[in-house]
Amino acid sequence: MCETAQKAAIHLVVISGFRDIILQTALYKEAQIRHGIEFASLWVAPPGHSEHHTGYALDLADKNHPETDDESGFEDTPAAAWLLANAPSHGFELSFPQGNRQGVGYEPWHWRFCGAPTARKRFHN
Ligand SMILES: [Zn+2]
Repeated sequence: MCETAQKAAIHLVVISGFRDIILQTALYKEAQIRHGIEFASLWVAPPGHSEHHTGYALDLADKNHPETDDESGFEDTPAAAWLLANAPSHGFELSFPQGNRQGVGYEPWHWRFCGAPTARKRFHN
């Protein structure tokens, strides 16, 4: 998908992929400090509950707009527009769109791969 985007002058960067429990614990503790204990889980899943544990989730960024990494401003980048139009044909779907049923904060950078039977089963059962 990154190679296809590059042909359209879109430079996707993977800023986070698989995370083990130790890394997720560290990120969750950071979120508790940054957002407060009661709001941390809106932004970072508690250890054991992150899609990043599956190895199918990616946080993507626009190389030309690093100031929007992991920020809501990412949705206004050329990379985000390209992803919305093209990621589904590469087997990816946005995990946490606006108003998602999980109640997770809107994350226009977080995409999960559902393009293989095992992955689809993981997220659509
Ligand atoms: Zn993510």
